[in-house]
Amino acid sequence: MEKKNKEELFKELSDAHAKDFSFSSGRILGSMCTQPHPIAIEAYKMFIETNLGDPGIFPGTKKIEDEVVGMIGNMLHAPPGFYGKMVAGGTEGNLTALWIYKKMMKRKEVIVPEHAHFSFQKASSLMDVKLKVIKSKKHVMDVQALKKGISDNTACVVAVAGTTNLGLIDPIEEIGEICEKKGVPLHVDAAFGGFVIPFLKELGYTNKKFDFEVDGVKSIAIDPHKMGLSVIPSGCFLVRKKSMLDFISVKSPCTHTRMHFSLLGTRPGASAAATYAVMKYFGKEGYKEVVKKCMKLTMEMAMEIKKRGMKLIAEPEMNILSIKVSDARKVAMDLAERKWKVGVDEENNAIRIVVMPHVKKKLIGAFLSDLQEVIE
Ligand code: PLP
Repeated sequence: MEKKNKEELFKELSDAHAKDFSFSSGRILGSMCTQPHPIAIEAYKMFIETNLGDPGIFPGTKKIEDEVVGMIGNMLHAPPGFYGKMVAGGTEGNLTALWIYKKMMKRKEVIVPEHAHFSFQKASSLMDVKLKVIKSKKHVMDVQALKKGISDNTACVVAVAGTTNLGLIDPIEEIGEICEKKGVPLHVDAAFGGFVIPFLKELGYTNKKFDFEVDGVKSIAIDPHKMGLSVIPSGCFLVRKKSMLDFISVKSPCTHTRMHFSLLGTRPGASAAATYAVMKYFGKEGYKEVVKKCMKLTMEMAMEIKKRGMKLIAEPEMNILSIKVSDARKVAMDLAERKWKVGVDEENNAIRIVVMPHVKKKLIGAFLSDLQEVIE
């Protein structure tokens, strides 16, 4: 380990960081993350030394975590007796859900839609759980296929509220009803859509139910570090009943608390503080404005794409667009040479654009012209 003075050291760090793409450039078009709000950054710095894995030392930070979970639970229609935790993101939330259901149901088969995020493959490999993949119909879960798919081995069903590639919402009300009838818990992956759909509803874009309002929904993963504008890492995992966490509880003798109910041990209290700050600062109206702006730009961009003779894989339900091309990997690589970072939707051979708050209207024309040139 070579020793350096502070000046040399920060020069090196700044050179490395200069090679990164920056959200502020407006050229990152394929990420579900964005610039954290300045309020979140300020709160994050203030709580930098706190550890939620040891709440006996940091009871103030623990209270902030509980407040965040309370606010998110409220937004997601959680009933009395619900519980939740801050997690590192959608991946940890989804892993935790499958961990609980494997233990709770004493079964090892999990039903996922074709478009489920790859975090479920990680969960399957890590926990020796078998994924039973249900075909999509019009890019969302086919409920008839689901009905046939549920068996005595099913530990849980997963549905997605805001699919990674297309931003679509699975028919969660119908799925929830089937799950209730069959006595199988439903986990909703709302990592992206959790901070979008409640505001889409207020803005009149959708009236779909996706959260604890649906009886079958027993747990939800939602990410403040995506459309919640908090810092990375900030995820939240919620369960309908606190007792569900008993299935994954272990004694934590070396800390100042008795039990742990989370995958991670040491957990950043700074993420809870940042999320608390941005949620309180924005309030419902603030988030509604963010979603309104992103949706307006999404719709304008969708129109422009069609005007230029290009095709979308699906009409946008939230702020994600997927543009059909013939070789998505190559197009993305050519666009990267022109300093645009787009997502690749391999399933549909499409370029995936996530219209996050950092996406700038004034750059859309230039991007679409570059895309057309690259395609031709
Ligand atoms: N679930 C969905 C639907 C996602 O789109 C993503 C990430 O894009 C995840 C889960 C994983 O989230 P994270 O990368 O924060 O773990």
